[in-house]
Formats: sequence, C-alpha cells, structure tokens
Amino acid sequence: MEKLQIEGVELYKFSNLESQPGVRHFVSSRRGGFSKGAFSELNTGFHVGDDNQVVLQNRQKLTRVLNAKLSQFTFANQTHSRNTVIAYASHMGRGAADGQTAIPDTDALVTHHSGIYLCVQMADCVPVLLYDPVKRVTAAIHAGWRGTLRRVTESAVRTMINTCNSTPSNILAGIGPSNGPCCYQVGEDVKSLAAQNHEMYQAFVKPAPTPGKYIFDQWTANLLQLQQNGIPRENIELAGICTQCHSNHFFSSRNDGGNTGRFAAGIMLF
Ligand SMILES: [Zn+2]
Repeated sequence: MEKLQIEGVELYKFSNLESQPGVRHFVSSRRGGFSKGAFSELNTGFHVGDDNQVVLQNRQKLTRVLNAKLSQFTFANQTHSRNTVIAYASHMGRGAADGQTAIPDTDALVTHHSGIYLCVQMADCVPVLLYDPVKRVTAAIHAGWRGTLRRVTESAVRTMINTCNSTPSNILAGIGPSNGPCCYQVGEDVKSLAAQNHEMYQAFVKPAPTPGKYIFDQWTANLLQLQQNGIPRENIELAGICTQCHSNHFFSSRNDGGNTGRFAAGIMLF
C-alpha cells in the first residue's frame, strides 16, 4: 500500500487499484480527525461511544480530502454476517450522516453505479475492496473472523460473478490492514468452528506457542476465498499491515480493550 497525507488525514491506497483510472478508493487511519481520548483522532464510527457530532465532522473532513461528498458515502450496519447487498442509486448516502439509516444487517456491498462510495468500518477486522474494470463493478467487504468463516468475501465475489457478470480473472482485489498473524490469537472454540466449516482451515488457523491457543491468519483466509473463486494471485494486493502492531495509526479493538473508534475503507466507480 501507499501512504499519503492530506490536511493531516493519513490515507492508505492499494497500488493495483490506484493505477486504475475508473475507480477511487481509500483506507483511512486514526490520523487527522477531531475525536479525543480512545477515539482519537479520525473515528468514523457512530455508536461506539464517541460524540456523534464529532464523528460527523470527521466524516466531512474525510470526504473533503477525498474530493467526494458525504452524500456519496454509503454504509451498512455490519453484523459479522455474509449478507451481501447490491447498492443502487436509491442506497446512496445511507448511513453517511447517522447510524440509523445504514443498510441493515450487511457486511458486503456491491455496486455497478458510478458515484456510490461503498464504505466499511473496522477496528481489527479485514477490509477487502474489489474492482472489475471490465464490467465496472466494485465491492467493499468487512471480514472479521466470524465473517471470514462465514465466507463473506466469497459471497461478494459470487455476487459480482453471478449477478453483475464479472469474470473472476478480471477482478482486482485489495486486502487491507487488520490484526495480522503476528498478533491475532484465538481459542479452541474458534479453531473448532474453522475446522467444521473449512476443509483447508489449517492453512489459516495454526497452533500458537501457548497451548490451546491458535493464530488466526485472516489475511490468508481471505486470500484463499478470492483465489478459490478464480481471482488470480497477481490481481490481489495484500497490505500486510497489522492494526495491533500499528495501533498508533489504526484503531485496534484488541489493543484498546474494545473501547476504540473505527477506521474506514471505501471504493467508488467514477
Ligand atoms: Zn501484529
């Protein structure tokens, strides 16, 4: 990923998406907003305990530096599901200025409409952004361990293929910052769920040095879902940035004991 700073707002961009003229995207960070304390500085999440007026100011500043409008930002109420919604013009702006109007119970957004900035929010979960430059389709996915085990990334890719006529070999993908295999330990319960649901779980759930603990490699798990659905490895950019190791740059739920803000990732056809 490339890092840049505009008016103090630290943004990250995938090189493979940035080189495409027909799409804009970003991954935001903690840096450059107005929130204080546990939410400092650029918290984009409503209802995490921050002052919602300040969250709104943060989002307004973010859209300004992105040269976009807040009314283009489109958010879902994320529930760690595999639910995927195709966003039409009527969805544009849902959840942008408040939490109540967000698209309910959804963790992946897909669109072929220009001007809709599909957004997801994270604090350790994985943002995945997809772009098909041939059929002109984008997707934004929120994949924590639950969503990853429920194959939310696969769900979004299949929606692009089955509903939007994308050819998987044309799809470009970015797997963004999240807690990485250096830090993300889970217990026997998560390992058992992975074993029940994924033949290849040992590729991404590995024994940790502590007995009864496992490393959950969310990056490899989501990479596998993309590759198993036909997206070539060379089309996939892996940020490789751990939010726990870099909690001064990214909100990290684990590092901050659950009381923290959310950074955002978004993608828009234009
Ligand atoms: Zn780490």
